[in-house]
Amino acid sequence: MKRELFDFINTDLQFIRGVGPVLATRFNDVLGGRRVLDFLLHIPHSVRNRGITECVMDAMYGDTITIPLLVKSHKVGGTFGRGRRRPTQITCADKTGQLVVIQFFNSTYLDYWLKKLPIGAWRIVSGKIEMVTGRPTMSHPDFIEEMENADKIPTNQAIYPSGEGLTQKTFANVRDQIFVALPEKLNGVDNQTREFFDALRRVHFPESNDDLSPNAAYIAKLAYWELLAHQSAIAISRKQRMDEKNRRVVRPKKYDLLQKFRETLPFELTGAQNRTINEIFADMAADTPMMRLVQGDVGSGKTIVALAAAVKMAESGAQTALLAPTDTLAVQHFAKLKPMCDKIGIVCDILTGRDKGVARREKLTSLRSGRTRLVVGTHALFSVDVEYRDLGLVIIDEQHRFGVVQREALRAKGNNPDLLALSATPIPRTLSMTIYGDMDVSIINEKPAGRLPIKTTKIPMARVGDLVAHIRPQIESGAKVFWVCPLVDESEVSDMTAVQTRFDALKKVFTNVGLVHGQMDKKSRDAVMAQFADDNSGMNILVATTVIEVGIDVPRATIIVIENAERFGLAALHQLRGRVGRGNTQSYCVLIYGDNISPDGLKRLNVLCETDDGFAIAEQDLMMRGVGELLGTKQSGWIQYHFVDYREHRDLFRLASRAARDGEPDTWTRDLMYIFDCGVNVGA
Ligand code: ADP
Ligand code: MG
Repeated sequence: MKRELFDFINTDLQFIRGVGPVLATRFNDVLGGRRVLDFLLHIPHSVRNRGITECVMDAMYGDTITIPLLVKSHKVGGTFGRGRRRPTQITCADKTGQLVVIQFFNSTYLDYWLKKLPIGAWRIVSGKIEMVTGRPTMSHPDFIEEMENADKIPTNQAIYPSGEGLTQKTFANVRDQIFVALPEKLNGVDNQTREFFDALRRVHFPESNDDLSPNAAYIAKLAYWELLAHQSAIAISRKQRMDEKNRRVVRPKKYDLLQKFRETLPFELTGAQNRTINEIFADMAADTPMMRLVQGDVGSGKTIVALAAAVKMAESGAQTALLAPTDTLAVQHFAKLKPMCDKIGIVCDILTGRDKGVARREKLTSLRSGRTRLVVGTHALFSVDVEYRDLGLVIIDEQHRFGVVQREALRAKGNNPDLLALSATPIPRTLSMTIYGDMDVSIINEKPAGRLPIKTTKIPMARVGDLVAHIRPQIESGAKVFWVCPLVDESEVSDMTAVQTRFDALKKVFTNVGLVHGQMDKKSRDAVMAQFADDNSGMNILVATTVIEVGIDVPRATIIVIENAERFGLAALHQLRGRVGRGNTQSYCVLIYGDNISPDGLKRLNVLCETDDGFAIAEQDLMMRGVGELLGTKQSGWIQYHFVDYREHRDLFRLASRAARDGEPDTWTRDLMYIFDCGVNVGA
């Protein structure tokens, strides 16, 4: 790829005007990266029409409208009596004299709004219109402009899947700057590259929802390229694995420790666990390195299976690295694995970004000497200065959070080590071949004996009071509750309203309520999470956005409440539900839905109420997924393709895998592999 273009797409978003380090971090949370490239691959999910309406009576309630209004009066709100909040209301009139109320619930920027809407002035305002106590009302308009600046309001606004602390205006600003700078970087590039970036431009400036449908010409083009990149990477990886010089190291076979390990387990392994362990051991005995994915629902007991593999490695003198997606999860794994390793005499250690100085050096020495046989950690495991004496096995927990890049970086620390990936994300069987074409798959489809299915119910928002009354005695007898609120998408001012409001309300009823959300820094977030997990802290309700982590283990948490559950995708709901039901006590999941739930939303909730088999849910999801309806990508997806739609692009799958099998990838394909983050092992 041309240097200038390469540098440009790798520019950190914090260097875009109006972004800076804080917003760049928020972008990172939503995009899974913070480069211009990550932004380019993140496309709008819909288009909102903001054509001008003259009279509010022409609109349907629930519509987004753009309308010129004359400001008549201000009524400043605030907090009254026992914490009741009253909104600030600004009464306006449209051209026909019809009254419209603009209201704000959050007092933070009050002065700013009052100044933006001075009495006696005409303003053009855009937002969602609703009927509140008999009057047309707009809460937190998306745009307020002076009449001569009407063109600042986009007629067809691209709506991006967003996250906490990022407004649609921020997305539009970043997009505009990127596409202003791009043409210069494309000087002298070949036609394919130009075509690719042109397609990206088209999808970032859609004119209607049709432009964003899977079958729109430019989306389909991009989807094909994305598939070509993935399929080419898979083809290369498969070839390398079969290559003579990449044979695995043959190590001595012994089984004493393993026997001891089985004997020390406080329970019987399930049939599925035993089957999976046998599959893994067969791989370890073959002469090509293992590449196996173990899929199993949360709580199916993947960790023990992974440990069995590590024990076998240790016995043959080699080392195992277990890679977790976050510090918290690494600590949690370590706390579980260490005692088991101690019992059978395996040296187990942990290495994360928190380890510094002498302590860290000692850990590294022990790894280099081969004394440490099992190391649990985060990305720190593949820092440059980490060396292994004989890294035989790499285990990746929650594999979908690691790209091929990281996978290869860790593999490079050993001599063709075996690779075992664990995933709680069930992929429909029909798809796992195309997605994990280079991996063998084991499925743990059986839960440990005695595990009770989680009882799932759905209730309308109106019944939330009854729910709180119900929960109270449970809490008094020691239960812990996760209370999840969704982000408020696209809000101009406040993504925080939902969680904050719920937190305030619950605090009045219960004594020790915790709050975590994406705008807290990582440290305080972790601290609250740890407090909730600690049985002695007295904290028994945790109000959270979806930042509560996959895999977090709080055995006494037996209730999860998910507010506005209709806004989440099936995958996300299923994973959230997996936060409970980890012990042998009955657990409950309550899905609260809002007034505006769609038929599809209702269907999704019913699926959850009927089954807790992740694979069945994944198949259902595939059948009925309506992409535009769901919130940000993180809350919607299984495996994250940017442009590919499983249902609509089956032909493209076939085309791409055929093209990928034909010969060596050309320069353009290598560029694509770089762009789609699947090319490091080919030296691209
Ligand atoms: P996963 O990683 O698949 O979500 P874990 O490996 O963390 O699940 O196991 C969840 C819990 O179940 C752990 O406390 C573990 O000790 C326990 N467990 C695992 N296998 C069994 C089994 N066969 N019988 C009983 N309990 C088990
Ligand atoms: Mg796990």
